[in-house]
Amino acid sequence: MAHNSTNNVQIFNKPRVELHLHLDGAIKPETILYFGTGDRDAVKRVAYELVEMKAKEGVIYFEARYSPHLFANFNVIPIPWNQKPGDLTPDEVVHLVNQGFQEGEEHFKIKARSILCCMRHMPEWSAEIVSLCKKYRNEGVVGMDLAGDESLNCKINSGHCNAYEEAFESGIHRTVHAGEVGPSTVVKEAVNVLKAERIGHGYHTIDDSCLYKHLLKRNIHFEICPWSSYLTGACDPDLMKHPAIRFREDKANYSLSTDDPLIFKSTLDKDYCIASKYMGFTEEDFKEANINAARSCFLPEKEKEELLLTLYDAYGMVQSTVC
Ligand code: ZN
Repeated sequence: MAHNSTNNVQIFNKPRVELHLHLDGAIKPETILYFGTGDRDAVKRVAYELVEMKAKEGVIYFEARYSPHLFANFNVIPIPWNQKPGDLTPDEVVHLVNQGFQEGEEHFKIKARSILCCMRHMPEWSAEIVSLCKKYRNEGVVGMDLAGDESLNCKINSGHCNAYEEAFESGIHRTVHAGEVGPSTVVKEAVNVLKAERIGHGYHTIDDSCLYKHLLKRNIHFEICPWSSYLTGACDPDLMKHPAIRFREDKANYSLSTDDPLIFKSTLDKDYCIASKYMGFTEEDFKEANINAARSCFLPEKEKEELLLTLYDAYGMVQSTVC
């Protein structure tokens, strides 16, 4: 298949920023074996290895997300390698991931932060997610996400609403998986009810032109994952009709990410190659997408400015746009 040959040459050989990446989907197969034991070192190692993986892909800043509850191995959750009840608490998991990221940062000289995921099917976890976001906000946790099956979302559960409301009031940044396979109404709800600043995927936003225009105006960020959307069937299988093209043409605020690099066996290079080969992305478009990502990342303002300056410098752009 044509897509398999896209990993050879690095398209856009410049610093990158990646915002939509699942830590629980980024575990190397050999690590899963250790992880199955619920071992503390394994959690740390998984986080550390992600930093290593991303550094190799030219990423200088990324935000990786995960469900601390799924990692903690509480209950029996249908992720295949994680069937046994474990003895880790979600709080310990967050602490361990923070440590792994920090060690990775020191070693690989890039910056890694995390986003904690609420799960649509488990609204009773969401209150703990927001309190973990608050507790660890100065130790590497920069935001909150809502992941899982969008079809469960006929009416958003009050557990999620309350958690997002508290996040908003406490200044915790918010993204929501919406409009990936689900309809534009899920996106509308994410923005209006959950006060999401960013939308995970959001492809089906364009089905509602009124909503789409509104979100363009509000500069809501779309975390686009081309290869993932192809594999999940979230969009038209013809990549030349991918919504990313529309987002780019309309100068929407969007960026490119891998989503689940392990599950999809892919790197960010693959997504960039697809964008270049099938969606007509140019060097300038890649710069734009990465600057969008830096502008919409969940870092504190000062660190965000530093990140932007690094990109402007690497891209040979004038820095006067930063005040
Ligand atoms: Zn995702």
